[in-house]
Amino acid sequence: NSFLELHLSRPLLRACEALGYSKPTPIQAACIPLALTGRDICGSAITGSGKTAAFALPTLERLLYRPKNRPAIRVLILTPTRELAVQVHSMIMKLAQFMTEIRCCLVVGGLSTKVQEAALRSMPDIVVATPGRMIDHLRNSLSVHLDELAVLILDEADRLLELGFSAEIHELVKLCPRRRQTMLFSATMTNEVTELVKLSLNKPLRLSA
Ligand code: AMP
Repeated sequence: NSFLELHLSRPLLRACEALGYSKPTPIQAACIPLALTGRDICGSAITGSGKTAAFALPTLERLLYRPKNRPAIRVLILTPTRELAVQVHSMIMKLAQFMTEIRCCLVVGGLSTKVQEAALRSMPDIVVATPGRMIDHLRNSLSVHLDELAVLILDEADRLLELGFSAEIHELVKLCPRRRQTMLFSATMTNEVTELVKLSLNKPLRLSA
């Protein structure tokens, strides 16, 4: 039970070592190999389980092989709150510290729209966003789009829905390409979460930890 068995590349293994992670948590051991196959994932996992690295590591692994001459938003991570978005963004920067030229941009309320718009136009590889602010940018700017998106992550789906983001999430999912990988994580699997899973995931593998 070590990160070496999970088929991750050197820059990611080095990052886990630098962060002091000696072995994967149960959700990481279950999720990482499956996510690397490209299948959709529906995970029951709470904060503290290591779920952020469980979705971030296989996602970063995929980005190692992206076409670098065609910058595009390839990963969108939706979180219910600004605080969680900040935490996820910071975790991704730490896990990507040994990867070259990965750009990860934070799109949340309370930060300057102009600055965020400029960051989005420059086509960062990863966007960590709250749904309302992300929709605003996609509606208001023709040059911001998700046409090249490869991975969509819905983090804390139950809270996303509790906070009333259902319409925004459905609109965002429609703006993503059909051919993509989607990973959804939720502490609880309410009826509303199950509906969202049906609408936005394709034959998901189910995990819990
Ligand atoms: P999360 O559940 O993603 O919010 O992560 C909770 C905390 O666990 C964070 O502070 C992570 O840095 C830490 N963490 C994640 N994966 C591991 C691991 N494999 N070993 C030790 N700590 C970890």
